[in-house]
Amino acid sequence: MPDLWMPGATRLDVGGHASTDGGKPKAIAHITWDRNATAAKPQDLVAYENLQSWFGRNPSGIPSAPHILWDPFTGRFTQFLPANSRSKSLADRAGGTRTNRAGAVVLQVEALFFPYCRVDGKVYPRLIDTPCKGWPQLLAWIRSWGVPDFWPMGRPTNFNSRRSEETWRTTGGWYAHAHVPENDHQDPGSWPAFATEEEDDMTPEQAKQLAEIRSLVRFGTWGYKGAGQVDAWAILNSLSTQLAAQTAAVKALAGQLGNDVDTATVVAAVERAIAEATVQVNVDVTGPTNS
Ligand SMILES: [Zn+2]
Repeated sequence: MPDLWMPGATRLDVGGHASTDGGKPKAIAHITWDRNATAAKPQDLVAYENLQSWFGRNPSGIPSAPHILWDPFTGRFTQFLPANSRSKSLADRAGGTRTNRAGAVVLQVEALFFPYCRVDGKVYPRLIDTPCKGWPQLLAWIRSWGVPDFWPMGRPTNFNSRRSEETWRTTGGWYAHAHVPENDHQDPGSWPAFATEEEDDMTPEQAKQLAEIRSLVRFGTWGYKGAGQVDAWAILNSLSTQLAAQTAAVKALAGQLGNDVDTATVVAAVERAIAEATVQVNVDVTGPTNS
C-alpha cells in the first residue's frame, strides 16, 4: 500500500477517520482564499501556521479540513487525515451524488493562496505564479494512490464553475473545487501542470518563444510549391533569416529556463532541426515542382 501519510508532511491528525466509497481515485484542487485582494489592493499572505491551526485544531475549521495544506511559497505540508479516509473540504448535500467519499481515494489539497496575495513585497495574481515549491513531491504522493494525471472537467484556468454529476461519478483524476457537483465554490483558478504540459506554465514571453520554435518544426515539412512569386533562391534566403531568428529565440528561451533544461541539449536539437530543414528545402527546390 502507498503511504497513508505523505512523506515529509507534518502530521496533525484531526481524527474522525471515515472510509471512502471506492471507485475511480480522485484529487481535488483548492486554494484557501482567505482574503479578497485585488491588483489595486494586494494583501499580505496569511501565515501558514494560522491555516495549520484552523484546519488542525479549531472546532470551526476541523469540519472542513482537507487531507493536505500546502504552502507553495516554502514547500511545507501539513496532513490532517490519512489518504484512505475521506476529508471534508467539499460540501456534500444529503442525497444526490457523494463528494468527499466519491472514489477509492478523494485526496484534497488546500494550497495556501488567494489572488493578489503579497509575499516579501511581491504580488502573485495566480497560484501558478508562485514558486509552487513541493509540487513534484505532492504530485508523486497523489500519483502513488492511483490518481491519473488528468482533469476530467479540464484544468482550471479561471474562477468559472462548471459541474457535471455524470463526469464526476464516472471519471477519476483531478478536479477543481469549481468543477465538483453540489458545491458552489469557484477555486482554485489555476493549478500547476503535470510534467507533460509544462509549457502551460510559461510566461507570455516564453510561450511566444516556444511558438517560434514550433514554427521551426513545421518548417521541416515545408514544400516548395513553385507558385512563381519568388524563386527558390529567395525562398532559401528568407528561410535562413527566419532560422537565424528562431535559433536566437531558442537560445533566449533556454537561457530563461536556466537550470530547468539542459541548454546544450536544446541548442543541439535545434541545430539538428535546421540541418534537416535545409535538406528538405534542397530536395524540394531541386526536385519536381508540386502543384
Ligand atoms: Zn475549495
